Amino acid sequence: MVKGSHLEPLWKFLKINPNLAGLPFWEAYPTLRVGVLKLADGCPFRCTYCSVPQVDPNFVPRPLERAHAELDPLCKLGAENIAFYDDALLFRAESLLATFLRKALEKNLQIHFHTPNALNARFMTKNLVRLMVQACCKTLYLGYGAIKPSSPFYLWEHLKWTG
Ligand code: SF4
Repeated sequence: MVKGSHLEPLWKFLKINPNLAGLPFWEAYPTLRVGVLKLADGCPFRCTYCSVPQVDPNFVPRPLERAHAELDPLCKLGAENIAFYDDALLFRAESLLATFLRKALEKNLQIHFHTPNALNARFMTKNLVRLMVQACCKTLYLGYGAIKPSSPFYLWEHLKWTG
């Protein structure tokens, strides 16, 4: 039986031994226009309507070197749009997303980032939103489960400040 994201019984059944440290084999594509990235696995929150706490309850950051090692071949293959598929992208944002984006800015990449999974609006600070805009985060989806009645205006003020 497979419990949560613990796939060891499945690997045993299939008689395979996956290389968990391996990088995605993006080079199998001759060119790419889009790509995906994940900075951390799991989610520390427990929204009652969500399956993630059942499947992946532990928030485990991935090494940022790995994220950049995944980003570089995506860019080389021509991907112009990169979607984060983290479940809690803004959790511990200073050590994860902000650090990742600052390094991406140093590389002067011609790419746009997107956050199709809902962002936890209460973690959106003025500086973080400014950095996300600078780093070309083009589409930001907000999770309403985390929004207080005044939050849309709070966010709108942040976006106005960042121009
Ligand atoms: S923050 Fe998102 S991923 Fe985490 S439990 Fe809530 S809805 Fe699910």
